[in-house]
Amino acid sequence: VKLAGKQSYAFYQPEMASESQERVRLEADLRQALAEGQFELWYQPKINIRDNCLMGVEALIRWRHPERGMIQPDLFISTAERVGMIKEIGEWVFATACTQLREWNNMGLKLSMAVNISGDHFIAANFCNFIVKTIELHQLRFQDIEIEITESLSRDPEEHRLICHELRSRGVRIAIDDFGTGYSSLSVLGNLEVDTLKIDKSFIDGVASEPASQLMVRAIIDLALGLGYDIVAEGVESADQLEVLRERGCPYIQGYYFSRPVEASKMPMLFATDWSLARVA
Ligand code: C2E
Ligand code: CA
Ligand code: CA
Ligand code: CA
Repeated sequence: VKLAGKQSYAFYQPEMASESQERVRLEADLRQALAEGQFELWYQPKINIRDNCLMGVEALIRWRHPERGMIQPDLFISTAERVGMIKEIGEWVFATACTQLREWNNMGLKLSMAVNISGDHFIAANFCNFIVKTIELHQLRFQDIEIEITESLSRDPEEHRLICHELRSRGVRIAIDDFGTGYSSLSVLGNLEVDTLKIDKSFIDGVASEPASQLMVRAIIDLALGLGYDIVAEGVESADQLEVLRERGCPYIQGYYFSRPVEASKMPMLFATDWSLARVA
């Protein structure tokens, strides 16, 4: 039996008999979760440390399971990909994020919204069309929407590039998530169809303590800024890490140091926060 990961295995394993039975059951569970509104989006701030303001949020899915409580995405996203449910979930995520951004815009909050999209969904038929239509339906600005993809998930780099190009031609922004952990060589880095690189947490972890990590992060920041990409450091947890990143000229910071992901209702409060002084949630 092929399983997506230890955690989804542990989560679903007990009553599993065969792979096909397992598949059917997981798919049914996820379908029910969608139909009954058990999914939620939480939002983690991205802080611009040049002017100490909240520049945007990343939407992160959670599953409020009626019996098992709150389930984190690492426990079900790979399962959803495996059973072919990721497109439907991704469309729910994107539409919900757009609805939320419309609501915040109506309250006078100006910010960008980043949404994670799985590789299979990104290259599915009509993806661009769905994205463009949904943004238009909610009367949002294309440049306020960023789609986060991981470079390693791309099976067809040329097709991938075309989709990125089409979205960017409308003004939608593309970010490479977990940057530094994929397979891109330096030769393609100067010529990516993307706007933003998000430096993976594994580099940030050692940025204040390990010379090698610090050197890597410094090189990535110099290279990215030099090539004209925006850059976000993710997984920033300490003041020491923040200081190194500030010194190195990294403009955008996301991580528990400033705030964990929060429910939508907390955002107006976070928006009014003075980020030069604060760590919030
Ligand atoms: P990711 O896109 O790399 O998102 C960052 C993850 O790191 C989030 O975990 C976030 O809560 C966590 N994080 C942020 N700052 C810190 C920090 O300072 N320290 C630590 N230890 N962790 C931090 P989360 O929400 O559990 O999401 C895990 C992964 O699940 C995401 O990684 C993403 O790959 C996937 N995911 C989440 N939401 C969605 C979604 O709506 N669609 C898809 N396709 N994938 C999603
Ligand atoms: Ca992400
Ligand atoms: Ca990431
Ligand atoms: Ca990740």
